[in-house]
Amino acid sequence: MKKGLLIILSGPSGVGKGTVRAMFSQNPDLNIAYSVSMTTRAKREGEVDGKDYFFVDRQTFEKAIQNNELLEYAEFVGNYYGTPAKYVDDLRNQGKNVLLEIEVQGAQQVKEKVEDALTIFIIPPSLAELEKRIRGRRSEDEAIIQKRLAKATKEMELVSHYKFVVCNEDPALAAQIISLIIKRHMLN
Ligand code: 5GP
Repeated sequence: MKKGLLIILSGPSGVGKGTVRAMFSQNPDLNIAYSVSMTTRAKREGEVDGKDYFFVDRQTFEKAIQNNELLEYAEFVGNYYGTPAKYVDDLRNQGKNVLLEIEVQGAQQVKEKVEDALTIFIIPPSLAELEKRIRGRRSEDEAIIQKRLAKATKEMELVSHYKFVVCNEDPALAAQIISLIIKRHMLN
């Protein structure tokens, strides 16, 4: 069986990665499995353990690092985030195209290990629009919002490390563009 693709989707927090992802990953033709990450950040309202993230404490996370269980990991605004390696491998070996929604440092680590990873970066129409979206989420205090905004500006400087850059002006359109990119790579 042909091994599935490894797809990395990055973009500053608040850009709408989750919304766009939900729109294209349901398309059965794309045969996508979402890689659920492990994180030490607190659960937001509506998030489900095991679906959005595996929510763990720092000790559990650090144990996973020591045991080499993570394909990549990074600290982002004071919390750990990482990708459990075994799940990704198993699904790719079953022919699934595995999607990682991760930030830029983690993406860099994956690229070093998996050279043919398909990398896609989502940008907002503008930084002002991004700030509006982050504030609209209303789930975090001002200090965290400021850190996320500063981080967003830094992350945007790294778009050239990605093979494709897609603007999320309209989520349905961004999802269609990403679907086309994935379909094209499934033919390789
Ligand atoms: P949030 O707290 O908004 O859910 O996520 C913060 C950032 O961490 C986002 O850019 C998200 O894509 C990224 N992220 C989520 N899971 C992982 C992961 O497993 N590894 C890395 N490196 N970043 C992740």
